[in-house]
Amino acid sequence: MTITVQPHRESVGLKTGQLYIDGQWGPAADGATWSHRHPATGEVVGEFASGGAADVDAAVAAARRAFDAGTWSRSRASVRVGVLHRCAELLRRHADELRALQALDNSVPIAFGSIYATSVGAAADVFDHHAGWVDKVGGQTLPPYQGGDHLAMTFREPIGVVSAILPWNAPFLLFAQKVAPALAAGCTIVLKPSEYCTFSVLRMVELLIEAGVPAGVLNVVTGTGAAVGEAMITHRDVDKVSFTGSRAVGKHIVEASAGTLKRVSLELGGKSPALVFPDAPDIGIAAATVVGAVTMGLSGQACVANTRALVHRDVYDQFLAAAQGMAAAVTYGDPFDPSVMSAPLINERQLERVLGYIESGKSEARLVTGGERLGGELAAGNFVAPTIFADVDNRATIAQEEIFGPVLAVVPFGDEDEAIALANDTEYGLGAGLFTADVQRAFRVSRALRAGTIGINGFQIEPHLPFGGFKQSGLGREGGQSAFEAYTELKSVFLPL
Ligand code: NAD
Repeated sequence: MTITVQPHRESVGLKTGQLYIDGQWGPAADGATWSHRHPATGEVVGEFASGGAADVDAAVAAARRAFDAGTWSRSRASVRVGVLHRCAELLRRHADELRALQALDNSVPIAFGSIYATSVGAAADVFDHHAGWVDKVGGQTLPPYQGGDHLAMTFREPIGVVSAILPWNAPFLLFAQKVAPALAAGCTIVLKPSEYCTFSVLRMVELLIEAGVPAGVLNVVTGTGAAVGEAMITHRDVDKVSFTGSRAVGKHIVEASAGTLKRVSLELGGKSPALVFPDAPDIGIAAATVVGAVTMGLSGQACVANTRALVHRDVYDQFLAAAQGMAAAVTYGDPFDPSVMSAPLINERQLERVLGYIESGKSEARLVTGGERLGGELAAGNFVAPTIFADVDNRATIAQEEIFGPVLAVVPFGDEDEAIALANDTEYGLGAGLFTADVQRAFRVSRALRAGTIGINGFQIEPHLPFGGFKQSGLGREGGQSAFEAYTELKSVFLPL
């Protein structure tokens, strides 16, 4: 089998070596570039501009000018509604092209690129959804509290200039979840894609320009976190940082942005549990769903993947057998091959990290499947076999830390209270899955879990449903009205009559 990313690379007509500032494409101020190596082959498939503080300064200044001019934030509501719907329409129209660009970026197979949660279609739905808020969210008029004759009112004002920082793993949805509500609220944006996922984000930016997003309203500075990201989170003229990525960088953003007390939204990592009860409708489907989430598509490099399976002892052996069967069925290789279902790890650093966790897991638990790097025709890529550890103690490293790879820790439990205690025994709180046919148990356990999103016998991210984390999985929510409001400031106005 040969992996064929290079011909696809040559067919891309993007302005890959450029930044987009104040309506103009151009190189980084110091001319620096970044080479992107494809995770499946190790070959260089893209040269991108690697910006720095001077580029961020220019982008923030452009965003500030555009915000203050009010050409976007104070434009007719119908103008913003129309542009947002056109963004959705153009994304849908270019879905195949965007899926191919994602395969060049992060090697997520084109076949998996149509699965709703992380698809172009989901991103388009987020733009349509937020178009609906533009003329519907306002403030309140309140009765005079102390009697007499006056008006007390609240207004929702756009927050201003937003630094939006993206990770590499789900470019379509995560781009939309930041850019759409910020634009709907009337903000202006400086956006940084991950250095490991630039092709697809640059193409989406081109489509948004075509849809009518005005110059200065959306600016893009590509490059590293240390150079571009750091300047975006400390810049004096940035009002809000909206970040999706690792917990470590999220904590750093809170500290680094404190000097100017920026508003901060954080979507961080997780160690989400799946709770499999003996009355689950189908143990085989539960196992396939859990193993699929940890191995297919992103190869476990997904924030909300159920990486801990908490399984009742009565169905434990049945679950493990089905889980191993599912793991054996996952296929790897060329992301442009429609039969390929999963991806390599994003870079060598992540490969070493995941293999390190697997080694420590071998002394902490019973390895039942996988546990090694894939070789042969896949040896040049960062491929790791689907790996399942059984009989894991929930306090073990592999049950506590976000590994971000195809590694499932299976933990047995005896009753519902123990399952809830194990599920909540983590510093994270992003998501959880329940498999049970008992509707009262489903709601009882959902209420008891300390997690932002719960899936009962299945899970889907929806544009109108808030998504985000309890505990160290983040601050704030994306999706729905709360996401739109997170790009506004509440202002109170008092008027004696
Ligand atoms: P990362 O934290 O390494 O990088 C994310 C972004 O931050 C990149 O653009 C990077 O360049 C930038 N960055 C790095 N250092 C920075 C700094 N000092 N200042 C500002 N920006 C900086 O994460 P990643 O490897 O790209 O993504 C994986 C992580 O993202 C996982 O932890 C995953 O759980 C999380 N994630 C969370 C969600 C969610 O919705 N909660 C969704 C997807 C991914």
